[in-house]
Amino acid sequence: MVQQFDAIVLGAGGVGSAAAYYLAKSGQKVLLLEQFELNHQQGSSYGFSRVIRYTYDNPIYIELMRAAYPLWFALQEEAGEQLYVKTGGLDFGFPSEETFQKLKQSMDRAGLDYEYLEKKEVDRRFPQFNLDDGMAALFQADTGLLKASRCVLAHVRLAQKYGATVCDRTPVIKIIPHSDRVEIKTETETYLAERLVITAGSWSKALLAEQGINLPLKIMPCQLGFYQPKSAKFKPGNFPVFFAHMNGEYGEMPYGIPHEDESIGVKVTTFYGWQTVDHPSEVDYTPDEEWVEYIRNFSRQYIPDAAGETISTRRCLYTLTPDKHFVVDNHPNYPHIAFGAGFSGHGFKFTTLMGKMLAELALKGKTQHDTSLFKLSRFQQVAV
Ligand SMILES: Cc1cc2nc3c(=O)[nH]c(=O)nc-3n(C[C@H](O)[C@H](O)[C@H](O)COP(=O)(O)OP(=O)(O)OC[C@H]3O[C@@H](n4cnc5c(N)ncnc54)[C@H](O)[C@@H]3O)c2cc1C
Repeated sequence: MVQQFDAIVLGAGGVGSAAAYYLAKSGQKVLLLEQFELNHQQGSSYGFSRVIRYTYDNPIYIELMRAAYPLWFALQEEAGEQLYVKTGGLDFGFPSEETFQKLKQSMDRAGLDYEYLEKKEVDRRFPQFNLDDGMAALFQADTGLLKASRCVLAHVRLAQKYGATVCDRTPVIKIIPHSDRVEIKTETETYLAERLVITAGSWSKALLAEQGINLPLKIMPCQLGFYQPKSAKFKPGNFPVFFAHMNGEYGEMPYGIPHEDESIGVKVTTFYGWQTVDHPSEVDYTPDEEWVEYIRNFSRQYIPDAAGETISTRRCLYTLTPDKHFVVDNHPNYPHIAFGAGFSGHGFKFTTLMGKMLAELALKGKTQHDTSLFKLSRFQQVAV
């Protein structure tokens, strides 16, 4: 028998779990379908933490974060658990670096509070860092961590509280759009809904192509290294999230985070990896030892006590667009289908807001939030 819903969400990662939550909260009868088990490790949203920050070199993202922070606070309140850990964030480098200048200009334009710290002030407040002479830093107090897996599970749990049906281990194998509804097929069931939100992460390219939406997405397995700190000064509260503006040295931009649990170590990585593939099935998950050593060399130079033994390494998938901006839009031919893709390695902090925006796009075809950077039309040739 065909089962009917008001709205179906495809993919229970960071964005999909949030879309299901906002749709269910607005009174929709929602079905959330996930191909693997909830909180699986093959997508992009699993893990202890993701950085949350206002500090973007584009004021549009800062404005979007002004909408996202309160949503996270409301979610943790409703979930009854801590999801955000405030650490402060330090962007350091030579003030002449283009990325450093663009960030500062963007924060000034957006009227964001931050402190400009000369090296001697960084030495005094954050002795874990060993900046080169002439370097400076921008400190923003609201930067912190989101407990990634807990955020996804909180959205799912609360969506269920508002009546959503959640089916994991249930891949969607066919989407058949009609003018006023959508038919969804899994291996055993057929579902009908008035609206569909597609949030398939690294699986988006092939899935959206079947709907005539050809996106230039590339999947990049990004490697993380967790290093044993040599001192106890690397917990939230005494060590900030950091970003190193190194003019492309040590990868695009090394960054790192503290961790409450010292057995996990200090996470240090670079913004982007090196190789890209077209489909998650092509990803090689073997740790790259050369990379681990390369990042340790960065730490030896700039954060010496964070360059201890490797505790673990892991690979996680970035889904990149060419301009690193997201794609969040309605299907041009079927406005009752909305989709979010290409979150380009910096989407987690926005997942709750993106879920809300996608719920609004699916329900009303518009959202109050600024989607000017995220339009499909910047790439698009839609097959009609
Ligand atoms: C190592 C790493 C570090 C990161 N650090 C940060 C950070 O510090 N701050 C930040 O803001 N962002 C960060 N990001 C980026 C952020 O995590 C991602 O942008 C975000 O999690 C993407 O969420 P998503 O919902 O699009 O994808 P996913 O979470 O991967 O969700 C997509 C879901 O769709 C499901 N799916 C796909 N196809 C189907 C199908 N046919 N049927 C049913 N289900 C399907 C998948 O199984 C998956 O669960 C990081 C990413 C990585 C990998």
